Amino acid sequence: MTMRRNDIDVLIQEVGPRDGLQAVSAVYPTEGKLAWIRAEAAAGVRQIQVGSFVPPKLLPQMADSAEVVSAAKKIEGLTVSSLAPNLRGAEDAIRAGSDIVNFVLSASEEHNQRNVRCSIEESLERFSQIVEFRNTDPAFRDVVLSGGIATSFGCTIAGQVEEKTVLDIAQRYLELGADRIGIADTVGYANPAQVRRLFTRAVNLFGDDANIGAHFHDTRGLGISNVFAAYEAGVREFDGSLGGLGGCPYAPGATGNIVTDDAVFMFESMGVRTGIDLEKLLAARQIMESYLGDEPTHGAFVKAGLPKGFDSRPQYV
Ligand code: ZN
Repeated sequence: MTMRRNDIDVLIQEVGPRDGLQAVSAVYPTEGKLAWIRAEAAAGVRQIQVGSFVPPKLLPQMADSAEVVSAAKKIEGLTVSSLAPNLRGAEDAIRAGSDIVNFVLSASEEHNQRNVRCSIEESLERFSQIVEFRNTDPAFRDVVLSGGIATSFGCTIAGQVEEKTVLDIAQRYLELGADRIGIADTVGYANPAQVRRLFTRAVNLFGDDANIGAHFHDTRGLGISNVFAAYEAGVREFDGSLGGLGGCPYAPGATGNIVTDDAVFMFESMGVRTGIDLEKLLAARQIMESYLGDEPTHGAFVKAGLPKGFDSRPQYV
């Protein structure tokens, strides 16, 4: 199964219900998550990461993930994605009906130890168990397994991360059976020059054999610039969070994921087709915010709306 469609140029994956809400302490109601997911799908968003299969005690916000996955599966045309940190979580994610299961390790050994309490090598072993589980049951044959690489552009504990380390991990993932690779700037350290360099190397190395996704945070204001740099390097799958929901666990008060609405506006204004209707996307954003309470949201497009003459913009060539 491939997530790319012929009628769009880039795939925007909404990760707010997982990555965004994970950083929000007040538990967001299940009905709110579903209203948000339905509205965003209706705006044309084709892939949404709806939850995380971790022990509920660890993350009460994600306790309803199985329920959210199975309800989201009923939305026509929507690819339902979820996150799982280990085999147990992946089994639950797959049995709940996830089309895509995202596994994550950190390119920084220190960050990986802190996050999942094991070495990178042990994380890769866990991923290979997940591949084996997926492969043993023909009913799960179409489930896409994504190998995520967090802190690919730097780490709050180790500082700099070598490009070679990231590319070696991506290579290992593919050898173990990953269907795609997700390269993430988890802590907002990346700059556009670095992004262009790393993704150019990744695209050259792995080319069309791997769907390569980019996940950026806007912690230091470079999120959208990094999206553009990755696009220019050949990346066609991007994560974003509606309204930039979710902060940064390492810098209280800082912004988190890039703003989906701003990223869609950038692509659409360039004539790069996302398949997403911007006005309906803002309506979905209002629904998302209506269940949020005091949590801050972000974004520039929402404040200013469409420029005059936007509908007659030229197609991208
Ligand atoms: Zn993130």
